[in-house]
Amino acid sequence: MPEEQVREKLRRLPAVDRVLRVPPLPDLLARYPREMVVEAVRRVLERQRDLLRQGGGMPALVALAGQAAEMVEAKTRASLRRVINATGVVLHTNLGRAPLGTEALEAVTAVARGYSSLEMDLATGTRGERYTHVTRLLHALTGAEASLVVNNNAAAVLLVLHTLARGREVVVSRGQLVEIGGSFRIPEVMAASGATLVEVGTTNKTYLRDYEQAIGPQTAALLRVHTSNYRLVGFTRQVPALELAGLGQRYGLPVIEDLGSGLLVDLSPFGIRGEPLVSDSLGAGIDIVTFSGDKLLGGPQAGIILGRQKYLEAMKKNHLLRALRVDKLTLAALEATLRLYLEPGRLAEVPALRMLTAGPEELEARAARLAALLTRALGQAARVGVVNGFSQAGGGSLPGVDLPTFMVQVHLQDIKVEVLATQLRQGEPAVIGRVQKDSLLLDVRTVPEGDFAELVRCFQAAYARAAASAGG
Ligand SMILES: *Cc1c(COP(=O)(O)O)cnc(C)c1O
Repeated sequence: MPEEQVREKLRRLPAVDRVLRVPPLPDLLARYPREMVVEAVRRVLERQRDLLRQGGGMPALVALAGQAAEMVEAKTRASLRRVINATGVVLHTNLGRAPLGTEALEAVTAVARGYSSLEMDLATGTRGERYTHVTRLLHALTGAEASLVVNNNAAAVLLVLHTLARGREVVVSRGQLVEIGGSFRIPEVMAASGATLVEVGTTNKTYLRDYEQAIGPQTAALLRVHTSNYRLVGFTRQVPALELAGLGQRYGLPVIEDLGSGLLVDLSPFGIRGEPLVSDSLGAGIDIVTFSGDKLLGGPQAGIILGRQKYLEAMKKNHLLRALRVDKLTLAALEATLRLYLEPGRLAEVPALRMLTAGPEELEARAARLAALLTRALGQAARVGVVNGFSQAGGGSLPGVDLPTFMVQVHLQDIKVEVLATQLRQGEPAVIGRVQKDSLLLDVRTVPEGDFAELVRCFQAAYARAAASAGG
């Protein structure tokens, strides 16, 4: 049998040129380099040969052309794509942390589309400074004397240490030598800045006298680091900001605090506690604080440095600043986000804050609406329900704080949940949920209602692709 039949089928397989004439390939040939389309057809035919050898049937020409077109499409589509985040992790670092609100987006568009007053003082027509655009806002919101914005918080810490402590020593508690997100480690940033780390205390306990005993002629600063992504619990002690600031004052040394998240407003009315407020640190007498723009602040990726004028002036003169400088799009988004903070009634317009503070009733009602839409869209094929669980702040903020939430649970009768999750990731936009046992969980905390229609459409398309691949 078969041997002869297979050979016959292989002979009947169309040539590359013939497939190239089948729509939609002629259109693709007109748009993309010929070699790219030809290569896709070759690979499709190669795969088809294998299938024929394994006893598969002869496909239609249009099907072969369609597969090649899909391959070209996969190669030419954007790599950085939109994602619907149904994980419930609000500041998901791998998914881009804080989404921007309408005001910030409009500011970015306006500044990006044309020219801007980035480095011009429009009152006098003379040269201005890019760093002044947010100074007044930051002062109003935190009481800080002076400010500087750089590319991210890692850059902020690097610039502060490089300016104030290069070639000298910085005293840090052993309980605060943290690693954030794999690539930011206090000891390594310290080394990169040219400062020498002097560790004091123990992993769980550090006292004021530990810092004091380490102070010597080479000491340039005292550093406090917020242990943003883990909690020290039990038999522990860290020196409060107020005490460390007092010690710095007595010895005439600047005290620096890396706050990580940079909370500007008290979220405890929403049950969110344990994250230090920027104004509290400055109020306690800390000389320089640094934090991220895209964590709890809910703005763009940025590193914000606040503190005493004389230290900030020194940082502005540091040549390293040129390599860490913030761009105009970031400044536009940051300024627009900070302006919302001036009006407490508008804080819900900062998407990250809105998501973090969403209450259980709201989330349950939203989950019920999404469940109803998915039930209607998927019909008999799916079992859809609403379950409760917990979301997380993410982005190395609020560790151990579980936010009660509601999720839509989807179980498909004839498709493995991993296959569904893979197909959802391939969609446009991609949808990322949580896989738990044989179900997919969609946490509505991070999915605004306005995205439901799109999410349902992506779900239907992913289901269809998964069913097609399961069906052979
Ligand atoms: C997140 C974090 C950083 C790094 O901030 P990026 O803005 O991601 O560079 C540094 N220090 C602490 C304590 C953090 O939590």
